[in-house]
Amino acid sequence: MAVPQNKVTKSRRNMRRSHDALVAANPAECSNCGELKRPHHVCPACGHYDDREIIAQADEIDLDEEDAA
Ligand SMILES: [Zn+2]
Repeated sequence: MAVPQNKVTKSRRNMRRSHDALVAANPAECSNCGELKRPHHVCPACGHYDDREIIAQADEIDLDEEDAA
């Protein structure tokens, strides 16, 4: 098993961890439905991006529609 050659001091360990902090999310309002969404992502609530519908929502699909077999 690989073993560290030198002790990592508290100072060096903490300097390494100075970049490890998590940053808060920066949600933006959807321009279509106003729901909070991640910037530069399709809105999970309405499926719109840049005022265009990208993902058809399940409640808009008619499941009873049947094509001729
Ligand atoms: Zn939306």
